[in-house]
Amino acid sequence: MTEMGRLVLDRVVDRIEHLADRPATSLLTPEAEAELVSSFLASPPARGGDLNTLLARLDEAADCALETAGPGHLAYIPGSGLYSAALAEFYNRAVNRYGGVTSVAPVFAALEQGVIRWMARAVCGFAEGSGGLLTSGGSMATFTATVAARHHKLGEDLAGGTVYTTAFAHHSVAKAARLAGIRTAHIRTVPHTPDLRMDPTAAAEMIRADRAAGLRPFLLVATAGTTDTGTVDPLPRLAALARREDLWLHIDAAYGGFFRLTARGEQRLAGLHDADSITLDPHKTLFLPFGTGALVVRDIAALHAAHSATGSYLQDSDTAGIVPDAGHLGPELTREIRGLRAWLPLHLHGVDAFRETLDEKLDLAEQVHDVLRGVEELDVPQPPDLSTVIFRHRPADDSPAAAEAADAASRRLLERINGHRRIVLSSTIIDGRYTLRVCVVSHRTHQDRIDEALKIIIAEARADTAVNA
Ligand SMILES: *Cc1c(COP(=O)(O)O)cnc(C)c1O
Repeated sequence: MTEMGRLVLDRVVDRIEHLADRPATSLLTPEAEAELVSSFLASPPARGGDLNTLLARLDEAADCALETAGPGHLAYIPGSGLYSAALAEFYNRAVNRYGGVTSVAPVFAALEQGVIRWMARAVCGFAEGSGGLLTSGGSMATFTATVAARHHKLGEDLAGGTVYTTAFAHHSVAKAARLAGIRTAHIRTVPHTPDLRMDPTAAAEMIRADRAAGLRPFLLVATAGTTDTGTVDPLPRLAALARREDLWLHIDAAYGGFFRLTARGEQRLAGLHDADSITLDPHKTLFLPFGTGALVVRDIAALHAAHSATGSYLQDSDTAGIVPDAGHLGPELTREIRGLRAWLPLHLHGVDAFRETLDEKLDLAEQVHDVLRGVEELDVPQPPDLSTVIFRHRPADDSPAAAEAADAASRRLLERINGHRRIVLSSTIIDGRYTLRVCVVSHRTHQDRIDEALKIIIAEARADTAVNA
């Protein structure tokens, strides 16, 4: 076992030590990639093979990917993956404790609930009586919250149940509503103000009109850090609206939530604690490996009421303890203990290490914004609420033709920037305009990579303008 472990450890440490030099995107040709893909689709052999040979194959497979763990990953809200969390997971998977019912492994269940309570109370500002569930990701957290909201506000009759969110909500919000039995036609897109935030006045009007038409508005989903731009909806006004109209307020803080650990984040996320439920994604802004989301709720009883179930095979489990059964707070019964991968890093590095790292991301994003705003060729529509900066080529004039030309130039710009393989950015559409995003979330992205990123972006923006002049 030790020898096998060493083989794995050596490869992993070597990979992590060289992350800064690794290309941000795969170097394989499409043909080589296709060959590798088909070789991994093959069935396993009857007789076993050699571990080192198999690990070499895994390295080859891992190389054929966006380097999401590296410092140049500025594309999607990354999951950089703390090494300490990987060690926690190795321990966790090897001891393999059951995470569905508390009485089977009560102290590990308490460890996990301790992590959740820290998220609910210290991170989100909820009071006693709050709690939640570690999930596989943000989508599952939002789905679980939607089911709780539906149960609490609609009961068993789902007819007319109506949900309100914006065009910038993550698609998992509408998906959760559909999975929870809400008709697609009753998932409303509330207009946004020019700064891309939900318009509370428009939301209030929609809710009133829908209620007058016989529908049953029950859930308002605000976003604290949109995936596109990191924008935070006006939470205090939306909380007041939800209270006035008796709607459940869910805040999708999958990206933004953990920034509340910082002073700037606390200010920008004011009102977060007025939610009924909040989605967090520790595999984003707590730098944990993929597969860790969190749902925190103001009242743990509401979550339990919507998800508790039983079977005679569970009659030996004691469910009256102080730590609730995870299996009765969400859709899953058998699940791994997800708390260790957060518990070990939080205890090993301390909360301040996370606070400082998140502060560093806010600083770097502010710098990206300030520098790009001074580049004549670029249009930088707004300062970042969090750690995502958006920009695009500036159109020559206000005509639709100029906008189209600028969109085409922005599309080329993304390709040229990513072609360096030192950083990888992504794009989105904001109010019809093709827009590039720099999203700084990895704990491995520091000043040096951002300086390099800015040099590449500016040089490529100018080169394209020169070619087209
Ligand atoms: C990433 C993200 C989600 C989805 O979370 P998954 O962990 O990918 O399921 C939801 N909302 C926002 C704002 C996100 O950034």
